[in-house]
Amino acid sequence: MTVIFAEHALIGDEIKSDVRISIADGRIERIEIGVKAEAGDERHSFVLPGMPNLHSHTFQRAMAGLAETRGPGADSFWSWRTVMYQFGLSMNPEQLEAIAAQAFMEMVEQGFSRVGEFHYLHHDRDGSLYANPAEHLERIAAASVETGIGLTMLPVFYAHSGFGGTAPVEGQRRFIHDLDQFAVLMARGGEIARDLPGANLGLAPHSLRAATPQELAALIEMTSGPIHIHVAEQVKEVEDCIAWSGQRPVEWLLNHAPVDDRWCFIHATHVTPSEVERMAKSGAIAGLCPVTEANLGDGIFPVSSFLGHGGRFGVGTDSNVSISLREELQILEYSQRLSERSRNVIAAPGQSTGVSLFTKALDGGAAALKSPAGIVAGQSADLFTLDLSNVPWSAKHAIDQWIFGAGIGVDCAWVRGQKLVSGGRHVGRDEISSRFRKVVSDLVAAG
Ligand code: ZN
Repeated sequence: MTVIFAEHALIGDEIKSDVRISIADGRIERIEIGVKAEAGDERHSFVLPGMPNLHSHTFQRAMAGLAETRGPGADSFWSWRTVMYQFGLSMNPEQLEAIAAQAFMEMVEQGFSRVGEFHYLHHDRDGSLYANPAEHLERIAAASVETGIGLTMLPVFYAHSGFGGTAPVEGQRRFIHDLDQFAVLMARGGEIARDLPGANLGLAPHSLRAATPQELAALIEMTSGPIHIHVAEQVKEVEDCIAWSGQRPVEWLLNHAPVDDRWCFIHATHVTPSEVERMAKSGAIAGLCPVTEANLGDGIFPVSSFLGHGGRFGVGTDSNVSISLREELQILEYSQRLSERSRNVIAAPGQSTGVSLFTKALDGGAAALKSPAGIVAGQSADLFTLDLSNVPWSAKHAIDQWIFGAGIGVDCAWVRGQKLVSGGRHVGRDEISSRFRKVVSDLVAAG
């Protein structure tokens, strides 16, 4: 039994003082508030619940910082995608596993305890199926075991390059399935989810570009888990969807799919006020990836009106260009301030913005990955602490100071009761990061 004594801890949406959290068999067994520390307790200043990272393409971690040179004309998402395809097309399964381990390790070091892995790199480099059709899914599962992060597998169905079932392009050859092949992958995913502690399974039609309405209907029948889809990330995607159907992507989904709280709309950047209201009322979670959306120049999702209609959101690291929970929350708030020319947009009057951002992302992220989160008796012991030793701080402001200020990092982290991070470093960091450095230098040399 481990007992953590927190001078302060975020319990629900309140900062409580003098908290003892008892952990047994990977779960929070008991929470005592307003008590004294006892001999043998592990003492920490400030304890927070582990955060779900609802959207990641782990293989893209290898190209972080390598697509930041301007091309000949105006640069865009689509030029970034060209670089991403080059990387994605060249890596082998061992390299993929090494990259996933690096990304997952960094997530745990940053306060994420679970990742929704939206994985679409399925096949061999020439596009042929591996002898084991779940080769890459198993590599990702192995990386989650090595790093300890909870895993929500979201195998991606990808069949077309554009709306209306157009044929895939050569650069997409490692992504492509038909429905029968995809069902085989889902069956193996179900076995992994059963055998792997902390794992569960949903699925992800990549986008309305990549799956036809008939395929989408068949996919929905294949799972009782979460359904994630990229939607309305780019203006061109919205224009192409209107040209194809007369409707905008979010509008089309709300009109044609049984959207409810099993669904997570990733990005949903370009939405009208009526789409915002209908999406919020459907129960679909908004899967926001503020660092990647800023990096790719996507646009800004209207969070405050979505919240005003009762909508829920979570955050994801998506392209993994910079894996940082505090950056995701900070940029989420700052993008709203810049677009609304206002301050403290996401908090209600009198509330701390940091606490509001954190608790809303925790709630929405858990809902999107169908895995409970929070410091609650009976739940998985997923926790992290802040290193407040370098700054003057107060309990009331510590979460704001961490997100918006400087000098505060994650100190320790536990997933399912296992202590994985101490002093900001993952227990496997030396080995995982040296393997990763070699893989990236080989990939860059080969490119
Ligand atoms: Zn994505």
